[in-house]
Amino acid sequence: MNVYILTLFPGMFSPVVNTSIIKRAQEQGLVRIKTVDVRGFAQDAHKTVDDYLYGGGPGMVLKPEPVFEAVDWVKQELGRQPFVVLLTPQGQTLTAGLARELAHKPDLVLISGHYEGFDERIRCLADIEVSIGDYVLTGGELAAMVVLDASIRFVPGVLGDSDSALQDSFSDGLLEGPQYTRPAEYRGLKVPDILLTGRHEDITRWRRKEAIRRTLRRRPELLKVADLTFEDRCLLEQVINEEKANEARGDNRGRNQTN
Ligand code: SAM
Repeated sequence: MNVYILTLFPGMFSPVVNTSIIKRAQEQGLVRIKTVDVRGFAQDAHKTVDDYLYGGGPGMVLKPEPVFEAVDWVKQELGRQPFVVLLTPQGQTLTAGLARELAHKPDLVLISGHYEGFDERIRCLADIEVSIGDYVLTGGELAAMVVLDASIRFVPGVLGDSDSALQDSFSDGLLEGPQYTRPAEYRGLKVPDILLTGRHEDITRWRRKEAIRRTLRRRPELLKVADLTFEDRCLLEQVINEEKANEARGDNRGRNQTN
């Protein structure tokens, strides 16, 4: 997978692309990441990339020419049309599903805006506009990093254990359940007995049930659209009954550890 990040601040990306899993993915040749300095495509001696708004208004917006030129340069370097993502708070909200789709694109361009935004014509370049949430950042760089990181996890081979992305929250529509490591008891907080039994089938069932419980408690709306099996539905019914019984007893104990 080739990823080109078009930005006015390429330096912001170095720590992210040169650390941990993203760094290793590049070393293994699974992903190639290039930051492209949009300022390098400015067309005047002063390297101007932003300008005042026609009609007046506060702030400056990114000019179209350097961004169009930068995308053309990427196309030329690749010899084919990449899939272009424009980062904007007005775009489709990033989800695990969208990140997974992007991970299957052989060539991805991420365009970060800055200042007050970008000239409207820049939208013509985009195959998709993506937002990372309903709030406004000062620039698209952090948003591009989020899209990059969330997508790269789905590139085959990037995560050491190929199952781990599939077990994470949202990958099958549910939140992941509680996880524990050693010690078995810490400051009076105990790891659930079932996890110490070595009975793998029971542990798998417990994990599924607790994922369902956590989703019910925190994001019940996800259960309405999740693709639940017959066994999942039985577990959900059990969980609902247990929760009702707990509530009737006024018992919130388990919640501190496993809510
Ligand atoms: N004036 C724009 C608006 O109201 O839609 C916001 C511009 S914002 C200050 C500057 C740039 O940051 C945007 O062009 C975009 O690239 C990026 N940005 C800000 N918030 C974002 C978000 N939630 N998701 C993705 N990109 C964002």
